[in-house]
Amino acid sequence: MTDALPPELISESDIRKRVSELAAQISSDYADAGEVVLIGVLKGSFIFLADLSRNLTIPRTIEFIAVSSYGAGSKSGAVRLVMDVRGNIEGRHVLIVEDIVDTGHTLNYLIGMLESHNPASIRTCTLLHKAERAEVEVTIDYVGFNIGDEWVVGYGLDYAEQNRTLPYIGNVQPVD
Ligand code: 5GP
Repeated sequence: MTDALPPELISESDIRKRVSELAAQISSDYADAGEVVLIGVLKGSFIFLADLSRNLTIPRTIEFIAVSSYGAGSKSGAVRLVMDVRGNIEGRHVLIVEDIVDTGHTLNYLIGMLESHNPASIRTCTLLHKAERAEVEVTIDYVGFNIGDEWVVGYGLDYAEQNRTLPYIGNVQPVD
């Protein structure tokens, strides 16, 4: 990859506007829930989670979880837990916050894994969704933007650890 900045797909101001819309919707939906536990999926969701959580108007706490896929780019879809949540989520309302849903395997795994902790409810939120790439059916309650089959970076997402802190979402052509 060269040092050139990736071309812009979603601008900083469009992200800001959409994140505040999502936060308003979530705040309204959870108005009677008491408190929501936001579980950010590392590393990619850390900027989205920071902005989303600060736009919420309801009581919330923050947790993180980390997973990795076996054999990046492989078709197996097997997901491995790298770091579990620290707090107890039993009986609490959980909102999984993802950067991007691609095949759906990661989110599907996370829902199953977190369900075993017996939360009061589980919902899912993703900034980006590649609907056409779906391999498993998974319910996504809140979607920021639908995108096509392309590799995106910025706003927390990387390509080989590069471009995570780009303020906008750009697309790159990964070299295999
Ligand atoms: P899944 O295929 O399980 O839905 O997504 C697996 C993971 O692949 C995502 O959580 C994300 O970390 C990564 N991923 C999928 N598509 C992209 C992309 O376009 N850009 C980046 N940076 N990560 C992606």
